[in-house]
Amino acid sequence: MIRIALQAKGRLNEESLALLRESGIKIEESKRKLLSKSGNSPIEVLYLRDDDIPHAVCNGIAYVGIVGMNEVAERGFDVELLYKLGFGKCRLSLAIPQNEKYENLDYFNGKKVATSYPNILTKYFREKSIDCTIEQIAGSVEIAPSIGMTDAIFDIVSSGGTLVSNGLVEVEKVMESEAVLVGNRELSEEKKEIISKLIFRFESIIRSRGKKYILVNIPNEKIDVALEILPSMKSPTLLPLADKNWSAMHTVIDEDEIWEKSEQLKSIGAEDILILSMEKMIL
Ligand code: ATP
Ligand code: MG
Repeated sequence: MIRIALQAKGRLNEESLALLRESGIKIEESKRKLLSKSGNSPIEVLYLRDDDIPHAVCNGIAYVGIVGMNEVAERGFDVELLYKLGFGKCRLSLAIPQNEKYENLDYFNGKKVATSYPNILTKYFREKSIDCTIEQIAGSVEIAPSIGMTDAIFDIVSSGGTLVSNGLVEVEKVMESEAVLVGNRELSEEKKEIISKLIFRFESIIRSRGKKYILVNIPNEKIDVALEILPSMKSPTLLPLADKNWSAMHTVIDEDEIWEKSEQLKSIGAEDILILSMEKMIL
């Protein structure tokens, strides 16, 4: 049995559960339970606050966990980074009041900064030889400067909207973060094997994100040009159509490229372009 720690509620909860479900692991929907067994896999989910996940994985209460890289870095527990999951993307940045003049990091010498990430910030200022006082607060960090508590903040930023609405401006990006799968360092071979199967499933799902399946009919004499427009993972599938002068080409493309590639294909005489969603890409 593999016990995996997930955030009980919050920004990472839904996507973490969705990833397990898409991996074919059935998890009971029960918000109040701390522990939930899968109905069809040797997997059990332990729901925790994200702050507690690195510790739970480090001491083996859970074998693996899904948590933001920011929490892993802040807590400092020795866990193995197994896989970057591509969601929960954000950055940890220093921000100051908009009306302040900022030139470089020296600005922070002798200043006071509010944060919920004192360890990451202490390390950063130490490396940069900046002498700054760090005020640790648990939440609502962004209001600290406006109430006169500190000169600046160090916090999670994603769109930057919260900073703007609090009259702050981001001046230094200290670290990038996303949700990661972390693991205990002393797992048995048997557990490692189950986890590597899980990672294989996660990979197949994550790889298909942002990708589309394209089917297009091409006059045979244009196949070479079409292959240049649609480079594929290995070689695209080509199937003959009932009309001997035409073939159907199937391949995978980036979602961002759909319109541009479709226009290029049309311009060389391709017809009947179908774009389909993909769930998984198993290589
Ligand atoms: P918990 O109750 O589990 O302690 P929390 O309030 O500490 O939850 P959330 O706000 O749910 O945490 O955020 C969880 C994680 O989501 C963050 O640690 C970070 O890795 C990631 N994240 C991504 N974007 C954002 C964002 N805009 N604001 C906050 N966290 C974000
Ligand atoms: Mg938390």
